[in-house]
Amino acid sequence: MPSSRDVTGGKRGGGATKKNAFCSFCRKSYRDVGPLVEGPGDVYICGECIELCQSILEQERRRRGTGKQLFNKIPSPREIVAKLDDYVIGQEAAKKVLAVAVHCHYKRLMLGSEEADVEIDKSNILLIGPTGCGKTLLARTLARILDVPFAIGDATTLTEAGYVGEDVENLLLKLLHAADFDLDSAQRGVLYIDEIDKIGKTSNNVSITRDVSGEGVQQALLKMLEGTVANVPPQGGRKHPEQQYIQMDTSNILFICGGTFVGLEKIISKRLGRHMIGFGQDAAGGEDHLGELLAQVTSDDILEYGMIPELVGRLPVVTPLAPLDVDALMRVLQEPKNALVRQYQKLFEMESADLSFTDDALRSVAEMALSKDTGARGLRSIVESVMLEIMYELPEKGANKSFVVTPDVVEGRRPLFPISEPKSKSA
Ligand code: ADP
Repeated sequence: MPSSRDVTGGKRGGGATKKNAFCSFCRKSYRDVGPLVEGPGDVYICGECIELCQSILEQERRRRGTGKQLFNKIPSPREIVAKLDDYVIGQEAAKKVLAVAVHCHYKRLMLGSEEADVEIDKSNILLIGPTGCGKTLLARTLARILDVPFAIGDATTLTEAGYVGEDVENLLLKLLHAADFDLDSAQRGVLYIDEIDKIGKTSNNVSITRDVSGEGVQQALLKMLEGTVANVPPQGGRKHPEQQYIQMDTSNILFICGGTFVGLEKIISKRLGRHMIGFGQDAAGGEDHLGELLAQVTSDDILEYGMIPELVGRLPVVTPLAPLDVDALMRVLQEPKNALVRQYQKLFEMESADLSFTDDALRSVAEMALSKDTGARGLRSIVESVMLEIMYELPEKGANKSFVVTPDVVEGRRPLFPISEPKSKSA
C-alpha cells in the first residue's frame, strides 16, 4: 500500500529511477512540476494533472447529477433583498426590482427544461445611476447570492469587427473564464456590462467617418442580449478565420447593463415640464433632485438619450439608483459586511490594537467623498490616505493601544495617536 502512494521528488523519493521520474500524464519531470504521486507499476502523476482531473470530474458530476437540480432552491425575492442588504446600503427600490427580475429569470430557467405551455421572456436589467452608487456592487452581490459565474465587461472597449478594440464576444469569454471554462454554468451566469450609455448614438457626434463604436456595437450587443449562439474565441482578442471557437448560447445568461447616463435627468425634467434651476446636480441639495428625477425614468427617455429602440426593448427592467447622500455614505463606511471601517478594525485587532471612528470623523470622510463626485467610490482612497501612516507604524507601535479617528485626523490637522499614550511620545 505505501509503495503505491509514494510521493517522489521529496526526500523520500531517493534512488536513481525516482530522480528521473516524470508525470505519466503530462510527461513533465518532477523537477519542473514538483512532487509526483506514484502508482503501482512505475506510474506517476503530478499536482497539476491531479488538479486538472479533479476539475474534469467535478464538471462531469455537475453535468450528470445536478443538471436539473441546479436551481431547485431559488431564493425568494425577499431572501434576495435580505442578502443584498448585507452588502448594499440603500437603493431599496432597485433591490426589489432586481430581486424580482432575478427570481423570475431563474424560474424561467427551470421551466425551460420541461415542456412548457407558457414561455417566460427573459428580463435583462438596465441599472441607471451616478458613479459609485452601487450598480456594480448590486450585480456582483447578486451573483454571489445566486452562486453562478459572474463577469464584468465594459461597453466602451467594444468596437465593430475590423476596428481596434474588442469584439462583443470577448465579454462572453470573461464569463467563460469566471466559470473555469465550464460552458454549462457559464451559459447560466450573470454578465454585467458597464457604461452601456457610452455606446449611445449621440446627437452631437461630430465624426463624419464610419461609426466605430456606436450603432454597430449596439446591434451586436442586441443579438447577444436576446439570445444567440455566439462564437467565442477561446484566446480572446480579435477573431480570425482559422481560429477554433467555443459555441456559447447566450439565451439563458442574465445580462445586467449599467450606465451613468449623464444628462438623462435633463431629458426627464424636460418631459415632466420642469426646468432645472441653478446648477442642479452640482449643488449638494442637487443630489436629491437627481435621485428624484431618475426615479421617474421611462424607456422613452433612454431612447431619446440615444440608445437604439431594439436594445432598450431588450432591457425591459429599467432600474434607477439614487445618488448616495452623506448619511448613506456614512452607513457605507460602517455597515456592509466588508465595510471599510470594519476591515480596518479587523486589521487593528490582529495587532491587538483597537480602532474607532467618531461620528464626526465618518461624516467628514463622507463629505469629502461627496465633494469628489465619485459616490462611495471615493471613500476608500480617503480612508486609506488617512490610515497610511498608522498602518506603517502599527506592527511595531500599536499593540495594546486604542486609536480614535477624529475629524482633525481625517482633515490632516493631526496624526492618529494612540489615546493610551501621551501625544508627545507617539508623534
Ligand atoms: P458604480 O455604481 O459606479 O458601478 P460601484 O458599485 O462599483 O459603483 O461602487 C464602488 C464601490 O463603492 C463599491 O465597491 C462599494 O464598496 C461602494 N458602494 C457603492 N455604493 C454602495 C452602496 N449602496 N452600499 C454599499 N457600498 C457601496
